Amino acid sequence: MPERKHIESWLTDMDGVLMHEGVPVPGADAFIRKLRDSGRPFLVLTNNSMHTARDLHVRLKRIDLDVPVENIWTSALATAKFLDTQHPGGTAYVIGEAGLTTAMHEAGYVLTDADPDFVVLGETRTYSFEALTRAIRLINNGARFIATNPDNTGPSPQGALPATGSVAALITKATGKDPYFIGKPNPLMMRTGLNAIGAHSESSAMIGDRMDTDVLAGLEAGMETFLVLTGLTAVPDIDKYPFRPTEVVDSIADLVDRV
Ligand SMILES: [Mg+2]
Repeated sequence: MPERKHIESWLTDMDGVLMHEGVPVPGADAFIRKLRDSGRPFLVLTNNSMHTARDLHVRLKRIDLDVPVENIWTSALATAKFLDTQHPGGTAYVIGEAGLTTAMHEAGYVLTDADPDFVVLGETRTYSFEALTRAIRLINNGARFIATNPDNTGPSPQGALPATGSVAALITKATGKDPYFIGKPNPLMMRTGLNAIGAHSESSAMIGDRMDTDVLAGLEAGMETFLVLTGLTAVPDIDKYPFRPTEVVDSIADLVDRV
């Protein structure tokens, strides 16, 4: 097998890798510190489109993970970047929170419900029947349907929460139109992120706790992939997939010396 290039830049998933149920994973702080000290390009990724990078920076800081705002990449940022490339200066009807509306504004989009180019669906905790009805009618009238991430549920201490994928399914049922999902496992989430930090896939690695999103997206984007066992995946699960990560490690602590 040809020798891989040295890893120059790192992308890492957030939940299940750096933190788990609100608690930092041992070694995560050392890993982030090493990356910052090294000056290497890096990104912390999340499929959740609800929060801005600034919100997430503060949340991470609260558990002693000091990730600069510019090193945080959300599916909302990837969506805004994608739309800016596809259709610069367009219009969109957005269902989502500050993470998404801020990213869309910063990409130069006008948010409107008057004949928009796109309907963009993201994560929110306050889905309204009125907003969903409007989205459905706009899609019926020709607006193209984009969703930030395909996750059907999200975690909470009380149990599962319906997430963007579930609400997208409702709109799909009503319109007959499938959305284009931007977040993981779409490798677009990786590609837009790599572009944002000026990194190249062949010298980059992706760290994640899920085979079906993190490892798959990293693999399809042409990156090295590391699976950690501190999140949703255990060793016996790996063989259920027709693809493998480059390497399986117990936790992020095992990767500190690789930076
Ligand atoms: Mg995860």
